[in-house]
Formats: sequence, structure tokens, C-alpha cells
Amino acid sequence: MTAYARCTLCPRVCGADRTKGRGVCGETDVLRVSRASLHLWEEPCLTGTNGSGTVFFTGCNLGCVYCQNEGISHGSHGKEITPDRLAEIFLELQAQGAENINLVTAVHFTPHVIRALDKAKSDGLTLPVVYNSGGYESVETLRMLRGYIDIYLPDCKYHDPALAAALSRAADYPAVAMAALKEMFSQVGAPVFDERGMMRRGMIVRHLVLPGHVDDSMAVLQALHDTFGDDVYVSIMNQYTPVRKFPNHKELSRKLTRYEYKKVTDFAASIGIVNGFLQYGEAAAESFIPDFDLRGV
Ligand code: SF4
Repeated sequence: MTAYARCTLCPRVCGADRTKGRGVCGETDVLRVSRASLHLWEEPCLTGTNGSGTVFFTGCNLGCVYCQNEGISHGSHGKEITPDRLAEIFLELQAQGAENINLVTAVHFTPHVIRALDKAKSDGLTLPVVYNSGGYESVETLRMLRGYIDIYLPDCKYHDPALAAALSRAADYPAVAMAALKEMFSQVGAPVFDERGMMRRGMIVRHLVLPGHVDDSMAVLQALHDTFGDDVYVSIMNQYTPVRKFPNHKELSRKLTRYEYKKVTDFAASIGIVNGFLQYGEAAAESFIPDFDLRGV
């Protein structure tokens, strides 16, 4: 029986038989990819000059009400491929000059991804592998990835279980994500950069500041700093975009204000976070500041 036949790959542990249908993540046991390309919108130490070789997998185990990528996470976009074809895609991205291979929301396809990485590595893949995730991951599944991932790039979305329940249908998100982040960190350790300033190993934790929820953002940053100190980078993001009106969460119907974002970044500086990235404007492309010293704000 494959891991997909009674799926417990993620913290939803929905037990779906994905050989016959879809799990809560929306996916069967057939690997589906919505896009693979060189991507310039990651943190500078991942994007470099050529871009991150990003592979967007379809499906998602979270279901955030404000999802910024609904077409990919819960829509019908995506092309069915085999793990062998995925291995070829990794090698094609490497041939195009990608700085790394960036796996976006891959948890529900973990066994396929491991098979593809094994094949690609035996066929010449040498790039660092980035695991880009919503942070809602099970420790057991992450352990399957030990030795395959060089850089973890998880979100840490919430500190308050009630907020996580209301916005992402996952009251256990804060506890689950923190356990996942600890497992990720145990695999990759403190950050290592090459002579060009590109990250070769380590962890960057992303936090999207939501309008009206500045207090929870500050609690997230405090927990991250208390747990990991300066051994992880923290990327504080301001790019929240309302995709529609939210009658039950009116605060999410508007953009984040500059005042709210400054309050959060000032707080980060005040508690001594020194390894981080900030965003300015709406486009992340030009706005991440490499190696920004938050104490210098
Ligand atoms: S990965 Fe999908 S099918 Fe598996 S437990 Fe999670 S939601 Fe269910």
C-alpha cells in the first residue's frame, strides 16, 4: 500500500484513499504541477541573478479564506506528470541557470518528490533544494525529507489558535507549525551562504502581516525569536492583497496600512531580530532587502 492509499502525509490526517479520489488537499495520487519556471520574486539570497527554479505543485492542505493563489491551491489548474518528468524539469531548470530548485507546497506529493529528487540527483542535479511551505506540516513526513532539502522556507502564519481556526480552518496550526519548524531546523541548521551571498543551507521563515492582526504578528515574531534566536532568517511580508470582500472578516477586505507594517517591523527590531528581510511597496521583486539589519531601522 502506498502512502497515498490511506493518506496521513499532512496534519489533516484525513485518511483519504487518493488512489481512488481526492483528499482534503484536493489531490489524488497523480502528481500535478501548475507551473515550473525561473522565479525572481523570492528573497535575494534565493533569487540571485538568474532566479529560483520554482515548481508550483497544485493543491493545498490549508484553505486560508484570504488565499492569494486560489487557482493553484484549490482550482483546476495544473498538469499531470510523472516523477520521472519532474526529475527532468529539475534538470531543465538547472540547465536554464536556476540558482536552486524551489518546491512550492509539495507536502501532499512528498513520496513522488523524493523519487524525482533521487532520479534527478543521479542524473546530475547539484543545485540546493528549497522546500517552500505553508508551515502546516507533519514531523513524520518532514523526516522523510531529511537529507533531500538544503533550505527550508516555511511560513509561520499565526500564534493564536482561534485566529488560525477562523482564517485557515486549523486551530492546531500554531503548535503544528512550531513543531514542524523545529524539525526543519534540526535538518539544516544555521544559515550558510556562498561567496555571492546566496544561501546554500539554512532556514528562512516567512510571515505575512494581515490587516487588523498586528498583535498576532508580534506574537509570532516573539515566538520565533525565543525559539531560534539569530539562527534563522525572518522575512516579514506586507504584500497582503484582498481577493474579495470578507463579510465575516471585514478587516481582511482592505490592504495592510503602512502604520501596521511599521508597528510590526519596529517590534521585530525592538526584540533584537537581526537576520531578516523587509518588503516595501507592493511588488516583492524589488523590495526585499538582503541581509537587512532590523536593529538598524
Ligand atoms: S496530504 Fe491531503 S490527503 Fe493526505 S492527509 Fe493531508 S489533506 Fe489528507
